[in-house]
Amino acid sequence: MAIETFYRDSWVEIRLDAISHNIQKLRKHIPKEKKIFAVVKANAYGHGDVQVANAALEAGADALAVSLLDEALRLREHGITAPILVMGWIRSKDAPLAAAHDIAVTFFQKEWVQEVKRVELPCPLKLHMKWDTGMGRVGIRTLDELESLLAELDDDRLVLEGVFTHFATADEEDFVYFERQRRLYKDMRAYLEGVWPKPIVFHSSNSATSLRFPGQQEDMLRFGISLYGLYPSPVVKAERPIELQPAFSLHSSLVHVKQVKKGDCISYGATYCAEEDEWIGTVPLGYADGWIRQLQGIDVLIDGKRMPIVGRICMDQFMVKLDQPYETGEKVTLIGRQGNEEISMDEVAAYLDTINYEIPCIISSRVPRIYYDSGELIEVKNAVTS
Ligand SMILES: *Cc1c(COP(=O)(O)O)cnc(C)c1O
Repeated sequence: MAIETFYRDSWVEIRLDAISHNIQKLRKHIPKEKKIFAVVKANAYGHGDVQVANAALEAGADALAVSLLDEALRLREHGITAPILVMGWIRSKDAPLAAAHDIAVTFFQKEWVQEVKRVELPCPLKLHMKWDTGMGRVGIRTLDELESLLAELDDDRLVLEGVFTHFATADEEDFVYFERQRRLYKDMRAYLEGVWPKPIVFHSSNSATSLRFPGQQEDMLRFGISLYGLYPSPVVKAERPIELQPAFSLHSSLVHVKQVKKGDCISYGATYCAEEDEWIGTVPLGYADGWIRQLQGIDVLIDGKRMPIVGRICMDQFMVKLDQPYETGEKVTLIGRQGNEEISMDEVAAYLDTINYEIPCIISSRVPRIYYDSGELIEVKNAVTS
């Protein structure tokens, strides 16, 4: 593993021991025979796909799930041999590439299967059929569609390995829609098991379902957001079915500290003007790093205390109102803990009126990721220079 380095004062810390912890907690929470997909799409929700995938597999995950064929190929290029499922749609002409790398792919269209049957496959292709039981995104919705899809699987090179569906409301207070999806899934499953002679792996649970309904009838589950130590929603967080540890924190340091006079203004548009003589610190992180302009006004942690961002956030820098002068180099924590204070991913998400999933995804690859395992530095990833 390459120990890279970087020359800026902002970084993300990823605790791989938190990833292991979360897998182990889940493992204890669910029936023994159930297998776990670690969902590492979107660069492992911004945490780093290869690092998280390896940590999750070592901790007991059985397989990996991603959205894109490109993401799956990247994992294979990095020597990962565990089963991988691409949960999104791939082009039929790319099926040979998936087969060659032993990557299972998702299907739900008859025409797609017909196209794949016409291309040259280097070896059998593993397929997971997607059922749309209420998400309304991709998948088949009726028994008629199921029948016509099964009829197309009359080719030895196509192996129906799995069937899956995805819940739209599993993280909510109200279970009516969730139960409706569950019933549809159960009925379609009963039908399929009646007509299909070979074993099939069924999987339906995302993090919310895995945490709240660990007994959900299925062979595997797909563990995404909670792998990273985040609860799927405030409702599930309040229930706290298992204790999770967040893996991601974001830090920077003050690169400039100055006193401004009453009436002096800060940043583009001069939207903030000091009400008295104030100490202002400059932090070298901005919207190009994913610390977007709507975050103006949110607190950061310095010296274990909360201090607000003042003035507009620039592309590469923003300013903070300090409670006293600090030395340059003083640590600034944007997501994470300092002493007894914490700015959680959930707080940042709430500030932006969005969900925690979105936050690590938007912290751009310009911010280096430093990997720790139980306090020990494992790897530094700097996408700017690599
Ligand atoms: C992203 C995704 C998951 C993981 O969902 P979480 O809520 O992050 O656990 C599971 N299944 C599918 C199909 C997905 O797209």
